[in-house]
Amino acid sequence: MSAVTEIFGSKVFDDRVMKATLSAKVYNSLKKTIDEGEDLDISVANAVAAAMKDWAVENGATHYTHWFQPLTGITAEKHDSFISPSPDGGVIMEFSGKELIKGEPDASSFPSGGLRATFEARGYTAWDPTSYAFIKGKTLCIPTAFCSYGGEALDKKTPLLRSMEALNKQAMRIIRLFGDNTVKCVKTSVGPEQEYFLVDREMYNKRQDLIFTGRTLFGAKSPKGQEMDDHYFGVIKPRVAAFMDDLNHELWKLGILAKTEHNEVAPAQHELAPIYTTTNVATDHNQLTMEIMQKVAAKHGLVCLLHEKPFAGVNGSGKHNNWSITTDTGVNLLAPGKTPYENAQFLLFLCAVIKAVDDYQDLLRISVATAGNDHRLGANEAPPAVVSMFLGDELNAILEAIEANTPYNAAGKQVMKLGVNVLPQFTKDTTDRNRTSPFAFTGNKFEFRMLGSSNSIACANIMLNAAVAESLKVYADRLENAENFETALHEMIRKTIKDHKRIIFNGNGYDDIWIKEATEKRGLCNYRTTADCIPHLLDKKNVDMLTSHKVFTEAELKSRMEITLENYCKTVLIEANTMVSMARREIAPAVEIYVKEIAKTAALKKSVSDDISCSYESNLLKNLSALTERISTATDELESGIDQIGLCDNVVTESAAIRDILINRMEELRAACDEAEVLTSKKYWPFPTYGDLLFGV
Ligand code: ADP
Ligand code: MG
Repeated sequence: MSAVTEIFGSKVFDDRVMKATLSAKVYNSLKKTIDEGEDLDISVANAVAAAMKDWAVENGATHYTHWFQPLTGITAEKHDSFISPSPDGGVIMEFSGKELIKGEPDASSFPSGGLRATFEARGYTAWDPTSYAFIKGKTLCIPTAFCSYGGEALDKKTPLLRSMEALNKQAMRIIRLFGDNTVKCVKTSVGPEQEYFLVDREMYNKRQDLIFTGRTLFGAKSPKGQEMDDHYFGVIKPRVAAFMDDLNHELWKLGILAKTEHNEVAPAQHELAPIYTTTNVATDHNQLTMEIMQKVAAKHGLVCLLHEKPFAGVNGSGKHNNWSITTDTGVNLLAPGKTPYENAQFLLFLCAVIKAVDDYQDLLRISVATAGNDHRLGANEAPPAVVSMFLGDELNAILEAIEANTPYNAAGKQVMKLGVNVLPQFTKDTTDRNRTSPFAFTGNKFEFRMLGSSNSIACANIMLNAAVAESLKVYADRLENAENFETALHEMIRKTIKDHKRIIFNGNGYDDIWIKEATEKRGLCNYRTTADCIPHLLDKKNVDMLTSHKVFTEAELKSRMEITLENYCKTVLIEANTMVSMARREIAPAVEIYVKEIAKTAALKKSVSDDISCSYESNLLKNLSALTERISTATDELESGIDQIGLCDNVVTESAAIRDILINRMEELRAACDEAEVLTSKKYWPFPTYGDLLFGV
């Protein structure tokens, strides 16, 4: 393969290509659109489209597509070829500015949660020039936002861009208050760490549960799991290494900064982290990464599982969303500065995040809610379903000193008066390494750890950006009218610490004692399931905040609530139906065949001599027969549960019924089948076991 520096971005219409292919005039106005959000002239769009098409055709593309992120959580594309008939009977390759800027996919089958009646099927897609176009296969992909004709967002990119704009607007007010007139805008950046499992494709193909639901619905613990901690950061097996190598090359070609790769805690589990970049680009890149992971896995005879909890009994897969706010002049606003003013500004932004996470802890929980992630949050591996923040001892001590107006010891016993005293230097190392916290400060960024591996990172970042924009707005409103800026600033920081310290928790988040304290003493939310939390999206305070910053309209929020709950219901129902099918048509019959074998053996032995003891056979027969009875009853119960769900008349009651009726019944059926698995000869078991799947690559 050629050098990485050569292939990197070779399939991306990036700044290098733009400079080389566009006239200076066109390039400059496009840059203005990208950097400052200025409207694009149609003549400029035409020139860009022509250059894009020439470049794409030269690189083997025959088609183009507006690539977008509907509310299904995955990406969508509809391909059009560049061809246009010419009078001589041939074709020419064409692509206009109009086609670049706007597309009109017939989008009636995408979920809209009532936003768009199917008779107004056409939504439209609009080019997002801040995310580069790229070539995938033979298609030029143009990142776009997806809206209805009424202008409502039908996708995840539109609200994400709006939330970035909301944060920019409020952060700029604060920056101006601190006297900086050079900064033009701020952007949030994200580096998502992506976890995944790799399993052998032939084994995968033998399991209906993996095929239909992406996770195992049955499976007894294998004799070995993750207890030896020998997989984490362990030597990467050759087949996996070949996959990773191939994956990196594909990602690099697409300009994705794939950087770190290693084995994770569970057997067959791995992680990939890119270098962080602007949030909307990071979101596009993460969607692409998940897609390419699956494609590359297929080439290697593997399947990449992105489900949050593919296996019971070993860790599930999450996605850590490392998030920071930076100015266009390169200052990270979440990094402590060197001068008193910089430090005061840092503390203000820190407080804005503390306030945001406390005030909108429910929205953060909501942003990561899926049926799959319900299995992970609070299951002794991932952060709990209760949102809290970790700041590290040193920063915590500083905040406590500010709140109490007492001297901060490490700083030579100075009272922390902001704007007067320099904050003590504290090192990044003292802040991190609490792996149990849902939301941890890691020196110059926050790491939000509740995301599930298959979540689009758009949702979490929309809520995070919006909530922080709201804190900053409250601060700016107060400070812009303050008589004495420094006194007001100091008071506001103290007040935030006092009012919101309940969200700060530096201990062990897996501990049951913490959950008790969090909910009973501190009054934090504990929404255990998707069905519990999603209806709160429409709580008045949430609707008020999100609509006031123009991140969502009320109709858009209603549609998102509908779609998320609908998705939860469909997911669990597919799982339940798959379980019924596997238990009835594969597991019970397999156990019966084995039972027959044993019964025959016992009868045969007895026919030779009555003296031969058959207690082994008869015990096994008794146990397995009891289990097949149990399996049969549990299957019937689950099936009748599924029928009951069909009677619900709206998604809120349906999701609650699923939570209350189906989940337990699914667990009972699984328990019975897993017990039967342990007693049944491997030869008769109808599909690969946990041991096969987890150690089979
Ligand atoms: P960890 O120690 O949690 O494994 P790293 O420090 O290597 O992680 O970083 C994890 C992710 O955080 C990477 O994707 C990295 O690019 C990203 N990251 C680092 N600095 C920032 C920042 N200032 N803003 C956003 N993401 C960042
Ligand atoms: Mg991390």
